[in-house]
Amino acid sequence: MNEKRSWLGRLAAGLKRTSSRLSDGIAGIFVKRRLDKATLAELEDLLISADLGPATAAKLVEELGRDRLDKEIGEQEIREILAGSIAKLLEPVAQPLILDPAHKPFTVLVVGVNGSGKTTTIGKLAQFHREAGRRVVMAAGDTFRAAAIEQLKIWGARTGATVIASEPGADAAGLAYDALVQARAESADDLLLIDTAGRLHNKADLMAELQKIIRALKKLDPMAPQECLLVLDATVGQNAHQQVETFRSLVQVSGIVVTKLDGTARGGVLVALAQRFGLPVRAIGVGESADDLRPFEAASFARSLLGLPVD
Ligand code: GDP
Ligand code: MG
Repeated sequence: MNEKRSWLGRLAAGLKRTSSRLSDGIAGIFVKRRLDKATLAELEDLLISADLGPATAAKLVEELGRDRLDKEIGEQEIREILAGSIAKLLEPVAQPLILDPAHKPFTVLVVGVNGSGKTTTIGKLAQFHREAGRRVVMAAGDTFRAAAIEQLKIWGARTGATVIASEPGADAAGLAYDALVQARAESADDLLLIDTAGRLHNKADLMAELQKIIRALKKLDPMAPQECLLVLDATVGQNAHQQVETFRSLVQVSGIVVTKLDGTARGGVLVALAQRFGLPVRAIGVGESADDLRPFEAASFARSLLGLPVD
C-alpha cells in the first residue's frame, strides 16, 4: 500500500508539467462556466498543445460537447470528464508485461533510438522484478560504447541482477546468444533483458543487427524473444510517432515504454500513440531513479495527466 502510494506520488509529480499545462489552460478557458462552441474549440487546441494529437483531441471534445453543450459546467467537472474519457481510450493498451512462466527465461529484447532510455528502463525493470523475487539477467547488447556497458553493470550491482557483457565492439548477436545460454545454465531463469544499440542513422545496419540478434536467440528458443519492447522518449514529441513507424518496420514490436514523462508538458503524446498504433503500453518512466517505472495503468495515468487525485 505504501509502495503504491509513493508510486502514485511519483506519477503525479512526474506528470506535473503536462497536468499544469492542461489545468491552467482549462481554468483559463472556463472562466465563463458555460460550454459553448468557442470554448470547445479552445479546449481542443489546448489538448493538441499537450500532444494528445488532433484526432484524439477532436474525439474528446466531441464527447464532452455531446451532452454538455450550452450547459453550466465547472473546471473540475471538465477535468473529471476528460480524465474519464482518456482512461477509456487507454484501457485497451494498458497491458503490463506479464511474464509467462512457461518461458524460462522470459526474454525481452529492448529497442529504441539512442538516448530514449533503453538502458535505464532495463535497470528499472530489473529492480521491479528483483523486488518481486525474480531472478534477472541483463545482456549489455549495446556493444558499441564502453560507457553503455558500464552503465548496465552499475544497474546490475544496484539491483542484484546478473550482467552478461563483452568487450566493446563485440558481436551483439553472439552476446545475446551467450546470455540466453548462461541465463539457462545459472537457472537465473525468470527474466532476460537484452539491451541494444539504437544507431538509427543507418537503418539497414540497425535492421541487420537486430534481426541477427533475434535469429541467434531463436536458435536456442524458437519462441524468443517473448517480447520486443520499444522505448520512446516523451520529450521528442511528434518524433515518437515516426520512431514507432520506423522500429515496426525493423522488428515485431510487441509493447512500448514511454520514458521521461517528467521532462515534458506534452505528456499527452502517450494518448496519441495509444490511439494511433494500439500497441500495448507496458510501463512508463517518470524519472531517472530505479523506482520511477511502474506498470502502466489507464485510470491513474489519465487522472494524473489532468492533475486530479488518484486513490
Ligand atoms: P539509451 O541510450 O536508450 O540506453 O538511454 P539511457 O537509458 O542511457 O537514457 C538516456 C538518459 O535519459 C539518461 O540520462 C537517463 O538517466 C535519462 N532517463 C531515462 N529515463 C528517464 C525518465 O523516465 N525520466 C528522466 N527524467 N530521465 C530519464
Ligand atoms: Mg543505452
